[in-house]
Amino acid sequence: MWHSDEFLKIQERKLISKEKENSDILRNGVKPSKKHIYQDRLTLAKKALKKIRVTGNYGICEDCGEEIGTERLRVHPIAARCIDCREQLEKESQNQKPAADFLNLATRVANL
Ligand SMILES: [Zn+2]
Repeated sequence: MWHSDEFLKIQERKLISKEKENSDILRNGVKPSKKHIYQDRLTLAKKALKKIRVTGNYGICEDCGEEIGTERLRVHPIAARCIDCREQLEKESQNQKPAADFLNLATRVANL
């Protein structure tokens, strides 16, 4: 593992605090629209903690298997992907939206 023990300890502390923060927010009640955001963040924090404690592959991109990068993990400790794969994923989701809109429109026209 390329990360130092100290770095992993710091990330673990950050993740535990994020996990607690998101649990507290969910426990105290949030608007339904925001609930899934905190639920997702909580799941990501738990997943990242598991990577540190169990699998030992924390900091490895889920898509390409390359190191995510210390700077990215410092800023975003629950990151599951490297910046390149993250950007690729964003591009793909942006490209899918117009296609979905077009399909929607085509379906509505077909049903007229
Ligand atoms: Zn990647």
